[in-house]
Amino acid sequence: MADQRDILLDVEDVKIYYPVAGKKFGTADYVKAVDGVSFEVRRGEVFGIVGESGCGKSTLGRGICKLERPTSGKIILDGEDISTYHDKQMRPVRKKVQMVFQDPYASLNPRMSVFDIIAEPMIIHKLVKDKAQMEERVLDLLRRVGLDDYHANRYPHEFSGGQRQRIGIARALAVQPSLIIADEPVSALDVSIQAQVLNLMNKLKKEFHLTYIFVAHDLSVVEHISDRVGVMYLGNFVEVGNKESLYTSPLHPYTQALLSAVPVPDPTAKKERVILEGSIPSPLNPPKGCKFHTRCPKAMECCKTEAPKRYQVSEDHYVYCHLYDDINKKNNL
Ligand code: SF4
Repeated sequence: MADQRDILLDVEDVKIYYPVAGKKFGTADYVKAVDGVSFEVRRGEVFGIVGESGCGKSTLGRGICKLERPTSGKIILDGEDISTYHDKQMRPVRKKVQMVFQDPYASLNPRMSVFDIIAEPMIIHKLVKDKAQMEERVLDLLRRVGLDDYHANRYPHEFSGGQRQRIGIARALAVQPSLIIADEPVSALDVSIQAQVLNLMNKLKKEFHLTYIFVAHDLSVVEHISDRVGVMYLGNFVEVGNKESLYTSPLHPYTQALLSAVPVPDPTAKKERVILEGSIPSPLNPPKGCKFHTRCPKAMECCKTEAPKRYQVSEDHYVYCHLYDDINKKNNL
């Protein structure tokens, strides 16, 4: 169990629902994009969130920094409960938590030079006292993300995808945040460039004492960078564990299926592929009981009606699945 002082972010039972028009006048159905998620992020770690597209992982990332308004639940950042903060209250908090997006081109203003893009957040948050200090800091950030001084006067369209992501990272670093939420930051890049950007993020993490939440659908990418990993399915975590334990001994049938599809470097190595039947059900009308039961190869009768509890399997590894009911009975939980 992590010491409370080591916890940078504490997310408690967060739900993010979107109302959609109901069948009858006056009623509303809800898309349950995030459906009661709890987890902690420790200072200095990389917490990976992985799952198929539509599982709610990006919505959760955006909800933590309040780009999406959570319907309920608590978000405690560095001891401060920001759950109900409105935009004005969030302004100073935005200095602590920054996002890096999948498509840096869409998130960089095409009419602004790279210098202005990186300088803008420093000006908004009053982090520089004069022009000379601003120039020094912008050029320092450019060098730290592997770009050159002359790039400062260029515009986003003059850069490759990988370079644009470096600019997006420099912009996020400009306010000296403690937490960066990276939402699929390398999935739009070629594989060789992906590795460069991941290595850069690792280097910057050490240099700036950062903590990351790294959201991605690619299990290999998440494995490369994360210390702990949460696997999401239909708006909930199904398993959370430290990387070694989760990747070598996955417990949840969904995690096992996802990992069985990851190619291994040795083509002669035997690996049994678990093929999941059907597609992800709609978050508008998720299955009762365990939400995974309609696709689970190990589903039992109880899975159709009872949502599984959280079962702590080892100190840093827990799972939501009835297959582990006995563990709780043994531990008297
Ligand atoms: Fe499968 Fe049941 Fe476990 Fe859900 S609770 S993952 S349906 S065995």
